Amino acid sequence: MISEKMQEHVKNSSIIRAMFEEGKRLSAIYGAENVFDFSLGNPSVEPPQEVKEAILEIVNHENAISIHGYMNNSGYEDVRASIAASINHKFGTAFNQNSIIMTVGAGGGLNVIFKTLLNPRDEVITFAPFFGEYKSYVKNYDGELVVVSANTATFQPNLEEFKTKINAQTKAVIINSPNNPTGVVYSKETLIKLADILREKQKELGTDIYLISDEPYRELAYDRVEVPYVTKFYANTIIGYSFSKSLSLPGERIGYLVIPDEVTDSENVIAAANIATRILGFVNAPSLFQRVVAKCLDAKVNLEAYNKNRELLYHSLLSYGYECIKPEGAFYMFVKSPIEDDIEFCRLAKEKNILVVPGTSFFCPGYIRIAYCVSYETIKNSLPGFKALIEELK
Ligand code: PLP
Repeated sequence: MISEKMQEHVKNSSIIRAMFEEGKRLSAIYGAENVFDFSLGNPSVEPPQEVKEAILEIVNHENAISIHGYMNNSGYEDVRASIAASINHKFGTAFNQNSIIMTVGAGGGLNVIFKTLLNPRDEVITFAPFFGEYKSYVKNYDGELVVVSANTATFQPNLEEFKTKINAQTKAVIINSPNNPTGVVYSKETLIKLADILREKQKELGTDIYLISDEPYRELAYDRVEVPYVTKFYANTIIGYSFSKSLSLPGERIGYLVIPDEVTDSENVIAAANIATRILGFVNAPSLFQRVVAKCLDAKVNLEAYNKNRELLYHSLLSYGYECIKPEGAFYMFVKSPIEDDIEFCRLAKEKNILVVPGTSFFCPGYIRIAYCVSYETIKNSLPGFKALIEELK
C-alpha cells in the first residue's frame, strides 16, 4: 500500500510525461515522421562539441579514482570556483566557491533548497503559468504552493495580486525566466518592482522572504534580449541553474545553486543545503559531469536551430488565426486555445497526431504549450494539421 502522500502525487502525476508516452505509442503505429510530438522540453540540438572533447579529455587524462569518486557533498572545490568565476565575469557579481552547490539538475537543486528552507505549512508563492512540478517539490517538504494568477496580457508576473498573497507564512517566492511555458523573459522593470514589494513586505511583517530564481533557460534567449541577473535586484536571492537545456544534457542531471553571502543566514543555509544534498540521497551531483561542465562554461548550443523553429511556427500560427505572444527565450510557445476548453483542444490536436500540452497543466487554462525543441521538418510537416484544426473550429 503506497503512502497517502504518494497517492496524491500519483493522482496529479504529470500530463506532460503521459503525453510523451502517448507520442511513443503513436509513433509505433503511424511512424515517427507522421507524429508531431511537441509535448516535452527535451532538447533537439546536440550538446556542443566542447562537451564531447571535455569527456574524452577527462576520461583519458585524469585520475579515474578521482573522476568517479565521492567528494564534498557540495561538489568539487575547483569546479565550484570555476563556476563562481564565470558568473562573476559574466554578471559583475562577487561570488566565491562557497556560494556554489553542485546539484542533480534544476529539479535536484530546487528540492535541496526547499528541504533546506521549508517548515510544514510554510508558503511558497509562484506566478501562473509555471512549471507544474513546483507543486510537488514544495509538497515534498509539506509546504504550500500559493499561485498568483496569470497576467495574460504580457505574461509578466501579476504584481498587484502578488502583494495581496504575501503574509507571515510566506517563506519563499519562486520565479522562472526565460519562462516555461510562455517563453517570456521577466524584464528589469518587473524585477525591480518585485524586489521593492518583497523588501517592503519583509519590513512590514518582520520576516525573511527568499526569492528563488529557477534559470534552466538562461542561455536560451533570442534577439539579444537581456535576461537580468536577479541577485542584483534583491539581496535575499538564491539562483537555481541547470545545464539540461543550455548544454543539451538533461539526462546527465547536472546543475548548481548559488547561495550568495548576502542571503539572510547564508552560512547556515549553505551548510544545510550541503547536508540536504546528502540526506536526500543525491550525496553529490554526478562527478564526471561536474568536471565536464567546468570545461564548458562558455560553450553554447546551436540557438539558431531553435530560433528558426520559433520564427516558422510563430508566423505560421499567426497567419492561420492563432493568438500568441512571441517568445523571447526558452523553446516554448504558449498559444491561446481557439476553444475555451484547452484539454479538449489537445484531444482534437491528438486526432491529427499533434501532441501539445494543455495550459491547465501550468495553472493557466485556455492556452496550450508547444515545445518547439523538435526538428525543423517536424514543425514544417505539422503546419497543415495546425491550420486544419483552427479552420474546423471556426
Ligand atoms: N524548472 C523548469 C522551469 C523546467 O522547465 C525544468 C525542466 O524542464 C526544470 C526546472 C527541471 O530541470 P532539470 O532537468 O535540470 O532538473
